[in-house]
Formats: sequence, C-alpha cells, structure tokens
Amino acid sequence: MAASTSANQAKVPTTGAEIADALEAATDATPDLVPTDNDVVHTGGCHCGAVQYVVMAPPILQAVDCNCSICFKKQNRHFIVPRSKFKLLQGEDNLTCYTFNTHQAKHLFCKTCGVQSFYCPRSNPDGYGVMPHCLDQVTVERVVVETFDGQNWEQTIQTSSIPARSQVKQVKGDTEEPKEPDL
Ligand SMILES: [Zn+2]
Repeated sequence: MAASTSANQAKVPTTGAEIADALEAATDATPDLVPTDNDVVHTGGCHCGAVQYVVMAPPILQAVDCNCSICFKKQNRHFIVPRSKFKLLQGEDNLTCYTFNTHQAKHLFCKTCGVQSFYCPRSNPDGYGVMPHCLDQVTVERVVVETFDGQNWEQTIQTSSIPARSQVKQVKGDTEEPKEPDL
C-alpha cells in the first residue's frame, strides 16, 4: 500500500485541444451511454486526476445547493443523473467513502486529493450527484442553482422533484429549461 499514487497515465486535460481529445476518447469508450434530449458528454474528475468520469447531461446544469450538515460544510453543489448516464473511467480504487446518520448517502472522495467529484446522494440511491465544478468546463454553458433545505430533509423531500431526476425519463424540474428544436 504505497502512499504514492502518482498519476502516471492520468493526464488531466487543460488546453482546449486536450479536452476535445479527451471528450472524443470518452465518447468512444462509452458507447453504452445513451443521451436523451439535449444531453452532451461532459468529462470530469477530481483534482489530482486519479478519478475520471464521463457523464451525460444538458449543457445547462441544474444544481442542488443543500444545507444539510455535511453539504453545508463542504459547500456541496451537485446535479443528479441516472446511473445509466454516468461512467467512471478510472479511479475506483482511489475512492474512499464516508457515511453517517442513515448511511444512505455514500460520500465518495479521492484518497489522494480529497476532492468529491461525484457521490451517491440519499435522495437518489439509483443515481449519482455530480459536482458541476469538477467538470471540464468547456461543455458547461451555465449552472442554475436551486436550494434544498437538507436541514429538514424528511419534510423537504416530500414535495421535491429531485428524487425523480435519477429516473431515465426526462423529468421537468423546478427551473425552466429552454426547449431545443429537433434537428
Ligand atoms: Zn484526486
């Protein structure tokens, strides 16, 4: 168990050309991910590059800003996707998991750099919460943030549209998304 996990093959794309290459490679690597509606392929991961993934989501991301005890401390903002729209490309061995209280949420983060780039939220056990700030930003048009009163989780979830967002069918959220014409 060497502490060194030097990113020998994990080169984090930084330039536009590198990101374009990474996107193309990620798309080739994930033929099983099927986009719906106006989804694009986002790439993302932790800071050190050990954890890397692709996720299908619209270019305008609807992020949840939760004020529960852990989300507040982490300033956790995330958007929800069904599991079928997310693929971890590398870094599974480099993830560690923290749970508390009901132990339903799996707070995954990189063992090396500590960054939580995605996790399994309590609200969506059949999906993932993905951090928009951990995506390679070229594919992100903008992030619409809504608040979730996680301090009163049991009450708030009753009337929330969030649990439905990990279902594959497109669910209309609280914010209006622009309708794209069929091309
Ligand atoms: Zn890392």
